[in-house]
Amino acid sequence: MSALVLDGKALATQTEAELSQRVANLKAANHGRAPILATILVGADPASATYVKMKQNACKRIGMQSIAVDLSEQTSTEQLLSSINELNNNPDCHGILLQHPVPPQIDERACFDAIAAEKDVDGVTCLGFGRMAMGEPAYGSATPQGIMRILEAYKIELSGKHAVVVGRSPILGKPMALMLLNANATVTICHSKTQNLPDLIKQADIVVGAVGRPEFIKAEWIKDGATVVDAGYHPGGVGDIELAPLTETAAAYTPVPGGVGPMTINTLILQSVMAAEKKLGQ
Ligand code: NAP
Repeated sequence: MSALVLDGKALATQTEAELSQRVANLKAANHGRAPILATILVGADPASATYVKMKQNACKRIGMQSIAVDLSEQTSTEQLLSSINELNNNPDCHGILLQHPVPPQIDERACFDAIAAEKDVDGVTCLGFGRMAMGEPAYGSATPQGIMRILEAYKIELSGKHAVVVGRSPILGKPMALMLLNANATVTICHSKTQNLPDLIKQADIVVGAVGRPEFIKAEWIKDGATVVDAGYHPGGVGDIELAPLTETAAAYTPVPGGVGPMTINTLILQSVMAAEKKLGQ
């Protein structure tokens, strides 16, 4: 039987229609002023520039505005912190996205953590992570939060299931594992020092690939009937998981492209709208 396709693109498009209405309500309540997401891009990495452009376009589609802050490759930590502080103090700015990664001379963690909690709509601060981990209100890290939203929309059972997350980065694997744990999954987190990776993955009811290496996770490591979530995206349109054979043997899977990617951007704009609603008391 063919696996269920967890169609992130369709879900994102559907959510954008609802978000457009919420933005229209915000404008009506705020003298016609649209909510604003500030995007900060440091350097000229073409992939990062493309991601930022896609995020700005998503804002435009739902009637939000964006402020683009483009900084040079040579930017120092102090200069970036100063830009973030300016946006923190700008009452018209409701959310701040600092595009990852930043050039190596910058202390990325310090800059992420300088973002005011109420504007941390991409879910990158330690404070937001801690609150999320404790089950307190917080904007989740956009990619894993987007994955949770797609699993929820397709009613994928998580409680009591064994989820294996491959990758433990601060913005993806680690928050993913905690979100799944908070949803009552039993969670195994794997990383570059993990031994017997295929054996661990074989036990998974839900596999999340967040490794950053094309088709690193082999289809034969995944048991029949598992739910497969692929966060990766690489040239040639492949993810971190060898998906082709799984379209027949898995219960459900996120396609690449059109699965996790659109939900990441959608979660960023959803959380920006939520931040604006909170500020305006709606
Ligand atoms: P990352 O920071 O490079 O982290 C990769 C993780 O994979 C690390 O935790 C690393 O372990 C682990 N890993 C590396 N080699 C491994 C191995 N041989 N066995 C097991 N684990 C291994 O990457 P990331 O930012 O989390 O991104 C992961 C993937 O998601 C990438 O493909 C990226 O393009 C994609 N991504 C997609 C979106 C989206 O919007 N769709 C957003 C962000 C990222 P160590 O911790 O031990 O080094």
